[in-house]
Amino acid sequence: MKLDLHCHSNASDGELSAPELIRLAEKNAVDVLSITDHDTLAAYSKIDRNALPVLLIPGVEFSTTWRGIGIHVLGLRVDPTHPSMLHAVEAQQAARFERAMIIATRLEKLGFPGCLEAASDLAAGDQIGRPHFARHLVNCGVVKNISAAFKKYLGPGKPGDVKTTWASMEQIIKWTNEADGSAVLAHPLHYKLTRSKLLALLNEFRETGGKAMEVVSGNQTQKETGELAAMSRTSGLLASTGSDFHMHQKHGCELGCARDLPASCTPLWTSWF
Ligand code: AMP
Ligand code: MN
Ligand code: MN
Ligand code: MN
Repeated sequence: MKLDLHCHSNASDGELSAPELIRLAEKNAVDVLSITDHDTLAAYSKIDRNALPVLLIPGVEFSTTWRGIGIHVLGLRVDPTHPSMLHAVEAQQAARFERAMIIATRLEKLGFPGCLEAASDLAAGDQIGRPHFARHLVNCGVVKNISAAFKKYLGPGKPGDVKTTWASMEQIIKWTNEADGSAVLAHPLHYKLTRSKLLALLNEFRETGGKAMEVVSGNQTQKETGELAAMSRTSGLLASTGSDFHMHQKHGCELGCARDLPASCTPLWTSWF
């Protein structure tokens, strides 16, 4: 059985619409798919739930903070209509818009006016995020590419790195559990934490109601997967997997193409089927 429990549609910063993602999942022989857009479940209202070629698991990737560090938490197999999920998504959308205004103000101070309007146009009514600001900076010739936009203006420690407005990790886990979902720590190695800090994060994640961690994420190395598998066993968190697919990219992980979980792991979905 092939699962991909982390990817993005154009309801956030992915390239494909939800129906296009589902067609691609079918092409890539994915059996179980979760579309996990940043802070929105909007993809699920764009899908005809009848006769789907894959088993679709409702999901969302929440932005949050832990000890002042930006952390992403997946809410998987949530009830998208549960009041706690509706509330979570609404609060996060407000936080996202507030953050966008702060990012635009900071960029204006650097000599780039009109960024909020331009990024909003690029988001076209969907979740506005740093990738939309990045695309705008590329479009105006401020930087050569998206990667340079993050490196110079939007990435960690740069003016556009504003993360003070998100709900806390504990709150996000609580909302996810209330909506009958499983909270999963996304891509644990992205945060570049020291080993002891990462272990503290995993511990607190489990203690506050988190269920699992991504042991496989995108194109990480087998060595990294082995390290995360060991941490999943010792921390008491179940293991999950996902490509974090956003768009077709030369060195990116394609939808459904992340490596299998190591056999030593206990998968999150053992109790699902
Ligand atoms: P946001 O949700 O608005 O905080 O934006 C975060 C998203 O930006 C991530 O989910 C990635 O899709 C994208 N991103 C983050 N860092 C980079 C980078 N260095 N280059 C390209 N995209 C990035
Ligand atoms: Mn993204
Ligand atoms: Mn993420
Ligand atoms: Mn993601």
